[in-house]
Amino acid sequence: MSIKDNLNTIKSELHEGVTLVAVSKTKPNKDILEAYEVGQRIFGENKVQEMVQKWEDLPKDIEWHMIGHVQRNKVKYMAEFVSLIHGVDSPRLLKEINKQAKKHDRVVPCLLQIHIAEEDTKFGLDKAELEELIESDAFKTMENIKIVGLMGMATFTDDESQVRREFAQLKSMFDDLKTKLNDITILSMGMSGDYRLAIEEGSTMVRIGSSIFGARNYT
Ligand SMILES: *Cc1c(COP(=O)(O)O)cnc(C)c1O
Repeated sequence: MSIKDNLNTIKSELHEGVTLVAVSKTKPNKDILEAYEVGQRIFGENKVQEMVQKWEDLPKDIEWHMIGHVQRNKVKYMAEFVSLIHGVDSPRLLKEINKQAKKHDRVVPCLLQIHIAEEDTKFGLDKAELEELIESDAFKTMENIKIVGLMGMATFTDDESQVRREFAQLKSMFDDLKTKLNDITILSMGMSGDYRLAIEEGSTMVRIGSSIFGARNYT
């Protein structure tokens, strides 16, 4: 199937209130334009340099989401244009985003990445770290970032009940955060392999790559 067909099939499955981020990492501009032609405007990338290059080359009404792990020294390259940063997992990173956003007189929307997978991965805050961050004085004085929700990745497994449990845990942290901060509207969970489960568990934003653009070739 073509990119257009894939995209239209997936969009027909998403009910109202679920936003699609088309994950275009490693894919060429012509693939992105094919999705653009059928109305897709939100694209996700996981490397800052690649996203900057695509932002320069492609139509300016595309909203670019940074979905990958962000190194602090790369924030300055995307602060001017990035629409949403999904993977914020430390106070130091948040502070740097705030600093760079200020230079461009912007308020950059961010999601805090939560570690929900039972498998061991490096990235994401746990519940205590999330609490600590939002209670901190430093956070309260940051005027050029806005936390708008949470992001998480479930364990890569066939065990549906485990994936469901991890998404449910993130949803409950999301509901809790809504009682503590204003403007919490985005729960970014679900990829090609698990977005249907994620939506059933309350996702409001899915990040889908290979089911739209085909398998990635990293060589
Ligand atoms: C690559 C990536 C995706 C998309 O993965 P697919 O399985 O191709 O849909 C989603 N989220 C993050 C954080 C990614 O790095």
